[in-house]
Amino acid sequence: MMKICCIGAGYVGGPTMAMIALNCHDIDVAVVDIAAPRINAWNSSNLPIFEPGLDDVVKACRGRNLFFSTDVEKHVAEADIVFVSVNTPTKLRGLGAGKAADLTYWESAARMIADVSTTDKIVVEKSTVPVKTAEAIEKILNHNSNGIQFQILSNPEFLAEGTAIEDLMKPDRVLIGGRETPDGKKAIETLKDVYAHWVPADRIITMNLWSAELSKLAANALLAQRISSVNAMSALCEATGADVSEVAYAVGKDSRIGPRFLNASVGYGGSCFQKDILNLVYICECNGLTEVANYWKQVVQINDYQKARFVKRVVSSMFNTVSGKKIAILGFAFKKDTGDTRETAAMDVCRGLIGDKAQLSIYDPQVTREQILRDLAVDKLDWDHPRHLQQSLNSKHVSVVSDPYEATKGAHGVCILTEWDEFKTLEYERIYKSMQKPAFVFDGRNVIDVNELRKIGFIVYSVGKPLDP
Ligand code: NAD
Repeated sequence: MMKICCIGAGYVGGPTMAMIALNCHDIDVAVVDIAAPRINAWNSSNLPIFEPGLDDVVKACRGRNLFFSTDVEKHVAEADIVFVSVNTPTKLRGLGAGKAADLTYWESAARMIADVSTTDKIVVEKSTVPVKTAEAIEKILNHNSNGIQFQILSNPEFLAEGTAIEDLMKPDRVLIGGRETPDGKKAIETLKDVYAHWVPADRIITMNLWSAELSKLAANALLAQRISSVNAMSALCEATGADVSEVAYAVGKDSRIGPRFLNASVGYGGSCFQKDILNLVYICECNGLTEVANYWKQVVQINDYQKARFVKRVVSSMFNTVSGKKIAILGFAFKKDTGDTRETAAMDVCRGLIGDKAQLSIYDPQVTREQILRDLAVDKLDWDHPRHLQQSLNSKHVSVVSDPYEATKGAHGVCILTEWDEFKTLEYERIYKSMQKPAFVFDGRNVIDVNELRKIGFIVYSVGKPLDP
């Protein structure tokens, strides 16, 4: 029976391996991690990540051919294929700080693989890594291998949090990059056979290693660029009286553009877009491509601008000060259907409002109180330009509540920062009655019916929409 081991039991490692186990009864899958609490949670009924459908998939195969363990070395040693799905965050210090990917976790995983292996293995880059990382990994593996053959493949993950199970079950494509040698081609075929258990052949794409590595960065850069493009357009809509939803609808009807991913918002978040574009910027700079680097930097800068613009709109609408005013924050996760808050736009918006001395009452259906308080206390990276958002948390400025009506009671304003479906159907008349007047709603995700809320009496701001008459 083939054995697969995945190092890193996070948002990617957990769901991707559960999907392999679900579809491949003839393969044993072990997901390993150095973080014992995470592994304990994977082995419990309270999984460490919230993802629709994930519970059922894990329940179907855990203990059968899916195992979660902290015994990293044992499972790596036994595996035929080792996926590495460790975190690759932005480097905080030293060369490339604030832009380059921090490959510390990857390097330590590679060294460990080399040390404990006694049989040939295929090592798969599942994490998002800079183009040419495989070259460095090969050097580390081969230096220590004592005659053992390692084949490196790039198999970047394209799942989106919130729809991970659906994305994994029916992927747009599975990408496998490898060396164009006979052994490299054989390794590609082996991994193809794994995915072929449930993915149609025409959706499994193979290519050279560097193209596969770069494709993941390119995909995230283009997705983020699309959001920044529509967000830039939203500012122009507000200035001119156009409605960004109408503009996006018209534009999306063009089959060359298409309708998806054209929603204006307070800004993108998540662990990937920001770090992958910064990484791309760094790679361009390292290759002397300053103009190209500057082009991609703009995508991040527009995103920062959009968040700052939102904060400015809130403060200026509320008579130029929010000092001492209660503001309800509805939604803190970076998108709906996830509890993930990494790089969430809500973090910067909350910090901006705290900076103006607002009193925030935060509600999110999936993010814990501890997580929100931790996020708001964390110092942010200072990139090329200062963000002036570095605030340490003063607890009297923030409360986290478990009910949206408690969050909004007595508030001067409501900011919707995550597009949770439940925010569309709240009892806004009840909310209006319980709030200070005038009562403001700032919809950072365009989820509410602006006209309905205006009829109730709210003063409404919705990103990219004509302002309250
Ligand atoms: P994560 O932080 O949720 O998980 C990474 C895990 O790796 C952690 O649990 C950590 O403890 C573990 N780890 C680190 N070093 C280890 C080691 N030496 N041995 C064993 N375990 C170790 O990260 P994630 O969101 O799953 O992302 C993983 C990678 O996948 C990143 O490169 C990311 O860019 C990429 N990716 C993420 C997404 C996403 O939506 N989250 C989508 C596509 C790709």
